[in-house]
Amino acid sequence: MLSYQHIYHAGNPADVHKHALLCWMLAYMTRKDKPLSYLETHAGRGLYHLDTPEALRTGEAAAGVGRMLEAGVVADDHPYPAALGRVRAEHGAQVYAGSPMLAAMILRTQDRMDLAELHPQEYEALRLAMSPYGARVHKRDGFDMAQSLCPPTPRRGLMLIDPSYEVKAEYGAIPGQIAKLHRKWNVGVICLWYPILTSNAHAPMLSALEAQGLPGALRHEVRFAPVREGHRMIGSGLFAVNAPFGLADAAAQLSARWP
Ligand code: SAM
Repeated sequence: MLSYQHIYHAGNPADVHKHALLCWMLAYMTRKDKPLSYLETHAGRGLYHLDTPEALRTGEAAAGVGRMLEAGVVADDHPYPAALGRVRAEHGAQVYAGSPMLAAMILRTQDRMDLAELHPQEYEALRLAMSPYGARVHKRDGFDMAQSLCPPTPRRGLMLIDPSYEVKAEYGAIPGQIAKLHRKWNVGVICLWYPILTSNAHAPMLSALEAQGLPGALRHEVRFAPVREGHRMIGSGLFAVNAPFGLADAAAQLSARWP
């Protein structure tokens, strides 16, 4: 039974890190006319209302996007605030955009989007939010969808893997899943988000990922204070295979501006 719901965390500092890098990569990859595939294994609901009791209860968005964009965590011409601004213009100033919605703001009509979400309510909300943007929304396990669609058509593209890590076995399974996906889709940009936890639960997974020696591997991490007392997440990480040219510089700029 899945209990994680991203509405409690949408717009937190980890989202800012993940979404800023995602928007940068997609903006870079869409500079060429050639179509691309965007796949997400753990999509969430796509659109989050920050004025709901769930979002207000944790205050995570206020500590994240609310404060960080104003403080200039990315430059004014970075694609992340532009994409978020377009979502807010369409859906209201109180929304926060999930990764599929941000991607939809950057992708073009020739691009293809496949999103997996397993939680029944999150899936239904995702389908309603993303179908108008031409996304194909799958109610199934994200890795099952990814393995069955790879290599996707078009072959150029990016996959975001953003699990909730509710099931601790996920940490152990992910390196093997990514290796298999890379074997099937050797040109794909495969990005994994992971939490940096006080318990260091993510560390063996990262060692295993790095030991695989996948091409163009890039790891980028930022740290932050726990969003509330006792919260175990103290940072956010992104591990990319076939990282696009320039991502290391874009990530370094984010680090330099990180509060
Ligand atoms: N990527 C989203 C974003 O940045 O806006 C947030 C996704 S949230 C961290 C993880 C999502 O994965 C949750 O909505 C959860 O219901 C979903 N999920 C959990 N296990 C899954 C699985 N095996 N397959 C697909 N989705 C799953």
